[in-house]
Amino acid sequence: MASVPLSFEFYPPKTDDQAAQLDRTLGKLKAYSPEFVSCTFGAGGSTLSNTSETVRRMRTEHKLEGTPHITCVGGSREEIRALLKLYRALGCRRIVALRGDMPSGMIGQGEFRYANELVEFIRSEHGDHYHIEIGAYPETHPQARDAQSDLINFKRKVDAGANSAITQYFYNADAYFRFVDDVRRLGIDIPVVPGIMPISNFTQLRRFSEACGAEIPRWAEQRMRGFGDDVNAVREFATDMVAAMCERLIDGGAPSLHFYTLNMAKPTLNVLARIR
Ligand code: FAD
Repeated sequence: MASVPLSFEFYPPKTDDQAAQLDRTLGKLKAYSPEFVSCTFGAGGSTLSNTSETVRRMRTEHKLEGTPHITCVGGSREEIRALLKLYRALGCRRIVALRGDMPSGMIGQGEFRYANELVEFIRSEHGDHYHIEIGAYPETHPQARDAQSDLINFKRKVDAGANSAITQYFYNADAYFRFVDDVRRLGIDIPVVPGIMPISNFTQLRRFSEACGAEIPRWAEQRMRGFGDDVNAVREFATDMVAAMCERLIDGGAPSLHFYTLNMAKPTLNVLARIR
């Protein structure tokens, strides 16, 4: 059982079956009394109504601190203003503020270009009402010019008023510790919470990781590849690996852990059960 606070991330269900699965997952993860549970948001508003409805259900049906993600790229000030109002009316005090991803040619065409502009907008519209979470990239954001400029861009979001950060997932604790050291050297003192992705499907993980720039260590990839079709062996190995990393992160001072659940309870529960 982890000795630090936890939060869990979900995506908005699109079908009744997915909605029922999410309800079951929330029901199981509730036992860990998460600080908050968050729901992702498609860039350009593609999951707009599903995200707000999911946050509403998290709060009213599950009595959890349902927290929306908001992405700004492709959205207008009016749309984001309306969302912020809606979430405030639902009782939300926390928001995960992100740029989002769009086809590369379209970035720069909307009213917001980067997440620091969204953070600034939220602060200007709602003062201190919202606790603003931002994204962080210990292994560097894939579109960043270089690691140093990514750090400077991270600082822009903090200077705009972010309260804490959640990292992209990683499997290399040293990258996290180095990132935290680097941001502290820039005078940034907000909590940086590791984002943890339990592994249940190696092929899917490889695909995700290529897209978001997360590195699967070569030794771990070799081991998982070596198990071939033996999904239980992959899961067993991966659960141990991720739990051991969580222990190192906690021992090294991580303030809390944020789990990317992919709406499944078991992979996250298995990791949590193995954390000393
Ligand atoms: P930014 O901080 O804006 O950075 C994006 C890139 O631009 C970086 O390379 C940065 O170095 C550069 N940059 C930043 N500011 C400037 C500037 N002012 N000038 C020049 N360059 C700049 N995506 C979704 O679509 N929906 C979600 O719900 C979602 N949830 C997420 C949750 C977490 C915890 C994380 C870590 C990511 C999530 N993402 C989500 C993915 C995220 O939208 C992408 O990683 C996106 O590419 C970057 O978002 P950001 O807010 O970190 O962007």
